[in-house]
Amino acid sequence: MPDCLFCKIIAGDIPSGKVYEDEDVYAFKDIHPKAPTHVLVIPKQHVATLSDCDDPALIGMLMDRVRKIADEVLNLAAGYRVVINVREGGGQEVFHLHAHILGGKKLPF
Ligand code: 5GP
Ligand code: ZN
Repeated sequence: MPDCLFCKIIAGDIPSGKVYEDEDVYAFKDIHPKAPTHVLVIPKQHVATLSDCDDPALIGMLMDRVRKIADEVLNLAAGYRVVINVREGGGQEVFHLHAHILGGKKLPF
């Protein structure tokens, strides 16, 4: 998607702090971290929001990679939070589906 910030990050047109990449997802550090560890996991396929995604396999794949990245790359054995903001009312600012992984401290709820 030409005007999508996260598609440009996947393509390498905008620099990012990559922590993981495979054929399906790209994961990188959030530029304004809300916790000691704050990583965004995005599918390489452009999907604007979770509500726009009617592909259970893609959603399942994304959650599987979140789990693996949190445990095996970020070493968040103590635990972590996964957040997906959906549309403006949910706080979504970038309209390319992404899961936030937050951890590295005890998170209040
Ligand atoms: P949203 O509010 O859409 O769920 O989350 C978007 C996130 O992307 C925000 O936490 C914001 O800090 C992050 N972000 C926005 N622009 C950039 C950028 O250019 N690089 C990186 N690494 N993160 C970004
Ligand atoms: Zn995109």
